[in-house]
Amino acid sequence: MPDQPSDGHNGPIEDVDVVVVGAGMAGLYAVYKFRELGLSVQGFEAGAGVGGVWYHNRYPGARVDAESISYSYYFSPELYREWRWSEKLAAQPELLRYFDHVADRFDLRRSIRFSCRVTSAVWNPDAARHVVTASTGPSVRCRYLIMACGHLSAPRKPGFDGLDTFEGEWLQTARWPHSPVRFEGRRVGVIGTGSSGVQVIPPIAGEAEHLTVFQRTANFGIPAQNTPADPAIHKSISDRVHDAYEELLETPAALFAELPTGRACDFTPAEQLELLEKRWTLGAQNMNLVFTDQGTNPYSNEIVAEFVRMKIREIVRDPQVVSKLLPREYPISTRRLAVNNGYYETFNRENVTLVDLKAEPIVHFDATGIQTTHSHFDLDLVVFALGFEAFRGAIDATGIRNAAGEAPTDKWTRGPQSYLGIMTSKFPNLFFVTAAGSPSVLANLFVQSEYHVNLIAEIIQHAESVGATTIEPTAEAEAAWSTHVDDLARPMLRRHHPNYMVHINSDDGSRAFIPYPAGFNRYHHEVRQYIGNDFDGLVFK
Ligand code: NAP
Repeated sequence: MPDQPSDGHNGPIEDVDVVVVGAGMAGLYAVYKFRELGLSVQGFEAGAGVGGVWYHNRYPGARVDAESISYSYYFSPELYREWRWSEKLAAQPELLRYFDHVADRFDLRRSIRFSCRVTSAVWNPDAARHVVTASTGPSVRCRYLIMACGHLSAPRKPGFDGLDTFEGEWLQTARWPHSPVRFEGRRVGVIGTGSSGVQVIPPIAGEAEHLTVFQRTANFGIPAQNTPADPAIHKSISDRVHDAYEELLETPAALFAELPTGRACDFTPAEQLELLEKRWTLGAQNMNLVFTDQGTNPYSNEIVAEFVRMKIREIVRDPQVVSKLLPREYPISTRRLAVNNGYYETFNRENVTLVDLKAEPIVHFDATGIQTTHSHFDLDLVVFALGFEAFRGAIDATGIRNAAGEAPTDKWTRGPQSYLGIMTSKFPNLFFVTAAGSPSVLANLFVQSEYHVNLIAEIIQHAESVGATTIEPTAEAEAAWSTHVDDLARPMLRRHHPNYMVHINSDDGSRAFIPYPAGFNRYHHEVRQYIGNDFDGLVFK
C-alpha cells in the first residue's frame, strides 16, 4: 500500500528499488532482469501496450530494416527457440506479437503501469532516491532510475502554418491510430521521405485515389529484398543462443552480416560492380557493407552512391521524376538507408505525384490542403513522416531533475554528454539504455538493449556489494568519453553532413557526433576495459 512520504513529496507514494521508463525492447528486458536479481521494479509506459516504437509506429508498411534472426532477444534460449519469425525482415504486426509473447511468457505486465506517462523524476540527495511522478497512480520512490524510453520515440510535431485550419484529417506515422485508416477514394499527401515515409508511401499509393509525396531531401532508398525466414538459420542459432549472443557482441552492428573485404580501390571496376549487385540483391542495410572505406573515403562512397542512382534511373520511368528522386545532397550511408518495398516503383503509378519542396517550399496549409510557392494541392488526408526529436525528446519529456534542479540535457548545449552512453555526471543512480554516447541507432537495438541492461545490472550489483547507495560518473570521465566519441567520428563522412546523429552548434557551426560511431565490437571492448579496471570513471559512495 502507498504510504505518506517523509521527504517533502505530497500525496501517496510507493517504494521500489528500480523504476523503468518505457516498455519497448529495453524496458521489457530491464523489468525481467531486475526482477530476476531480486529487486522490486515498477515500469511505466505511456502506450496502452508493450512494444515501444513498434507499438506506436503501426503505419502500413512498417517493417524492421535489420534481419529478425539477429533483431531478437537472446537472453532466454528457450524463448529464442520457440519463436519463429515468418519473414527475414519482420513486419510491425509480427514484431508486436513477439513483444506481447515475451511480456506474457515472463509475466512482465504486472510490473508495468500502462497508459501512464512519467511527468517528473526528482533526485532527493538526502534519501538517495528518485521521486517519480506519473500521469496516473501514486508516485514512486526508487533507488535506481532506468531510462528505457528510446532515442527515436518522441515524434517531431508538424509545425506548419495554418495546419489548424485544415479541414481534412492528418496523422503521424509515429502515432498511427489503432483503427484502420481508409485511403480509398481519398486524396492523400505524405510529407517526409525518411525511413518511415518510404515505407508508408507504397501501400498508400496502392489504395488512394491520388497520392502526393512532398519530398524535401531525396534519400537513398534500398529495397528490403524480404524473403520468408530460413528455418535452417533459426535452427543453427537456436542450438547455441548464448554463444551466438557473444558472437554478436564482436560484430560492428551487433548483427550477423557478411562484412566487406576491401577498399573500393582494391577491386577492378568489374569486381566492384559484382560486389554492388550482390549487396543490392541482399538488400536493406547491406548497401552499407560494399567496401571497407565507403564511410570515410568520398571516392569510394560515390561509387556506391552512383550505383544506387543507376538503380533508381532503371526503375523510375519519368526522367523529370527521376531527377527529383536522385539523392545528391549527402554521401550514401551518412544518413540511415531508407529500406522499403517498392518505393521507387510507386512513382511509375498514374495516381502518384512527387513535389520537390526544395524547388517549391510549403507556404501554409489551408482549409482544403497545402499551398506551396507554386501550386495548391487539394487533400483529404495528410500523413506526417517527419522524424523524431532524436536522442533528447523522451529524456526531456520525463522531467528528470537532479539535486540542483538541472535536467540531464541542460549540459548538452555544445553536444550530448555521457559516460559510456549509459550515465551522466551530477545525476546519481540514473541510467540510460541505447542513448547518446553509445552505438545506439548504429547497432542492433535488441542486442544492445540486453547488453546495456546487463551492464547497468553489473554496476548496480557492484554498488550493492560494496554498500554504496549512490553511483555517479566523474565529470572528467564523462568529458573524456564524450570527446572520445566525437573524435572517433571525425574521419567519418557521416559527421560532416547534417542528420539527426550530428549535433551542430548554431553560433559557430562546430559539431559533435552523438552515437558512438566506431562499431559495437569496439564499444564492447572499451566498456569491458573500464569496468574491468575497477569500474574506472564511476564513483560509488
Ligand atoms: P527521418 O529519417 O528523420 O525523416 C524525416 C523526413 O521528414 C525527412 O525526409 C525530412 O526531410 C522530412 N521533414 C522533416 N521536417 C520537415 C518539414 N518541416 N518539411 C518537410 N519535410 C520535413 O525520420 P523517419 O523516417 O521517421 O526515420 C527516423 C529513424 O527511425 C530512421 O533513421 C531509423 O533509424 C528509424 N526507423 C526505422 C525503420 C525501420 O527499421 N524500418 C522505419 C522507420 C524509422 P529532410 O531530410 O530534408 O530533413
